[in-house]
Amino acid sequence: MAMIKLDQVSKYYRSEDTVSVGMKNISLNFELGEFVAVTGESGSGKSTLLNVISGLDGYEDGELYLFGEETSHYTIADWERYRGTYIGFVFQNYNIIDSYTVYQNVMLALEIQGYNPKERKKRALELIDKVGLTSHKNHKASKLSGGQKQRAVIARALAKDCPVIVADEPTGNLDSSSAEHVMRLLYTIAKDKLVIVVIHDY
Ligand code: ADP
Ligand code: MG
Repeated sequence: MAMIKLDQVSKYYRSEDTVSVGMKNISLNFELGEFVAVTGESGSGKSTLLNVISGLDGYEDGELYLFGEETSHYTIADWERYRGTYIGFVFQNYNIIDSYTVYQNVMLALEIQGYNPKERKKRALELIDKVGLTSHKNHKASKLSGGQKQRAVIARALAKDCPVIVADEPTGNLDSSSAEHVMRLLYTIAKDKLVIVVIHDY
């Protein structure tokens, strides 16, 4: 059973007088442990695909199966539960509080996840170490470079302990060496998760 399976899924964006195609008849399987890169021209539907998979956006045709379950009947509450339980988001600046240090940002994420104070400290330091920010743990997010900030976003996403990580152009604003660092990190994370990365630069 695929963890995430799209069967002929289409998504249209409708406004008063126009309909634009977000994506059309997409069939794909995603498994735990995979590191998947989605590339394509601007406007080809990469973000649409990611948003549908992560439950940020609905779809109309076809069926999206999540952990074997059909989702065409999902309510808003079902989608919220799904996002909350299964998806870690690595979007530019996602949920990072600039006036908080790296440590405070990760601690807050762990608190939201319900970790008790003692576990929280230990886990925060582990996560910060995992993304290579130990020497910057007491720096405010606003003082980090783009690459460091993106790694802080990844640490926050990992605080959630969820099986799927989605990243929409996580290296979009980074120089090539920071971009490589972030991609390597996401690759490492995919050892025990499904990581789906939208990337402009093939
Ligand atoms: P990509 O991420 O590959 O650049 P998108 O998924 O953002 O592409 O967009 C795919 C298509 O859907 C494009 O033609 C875009 O104009 C359209 N689209 C995306 N989001 C919206 C929206 N909120 N309203 C209307 N059209 C949209
Ligand atoms: Mg996009």
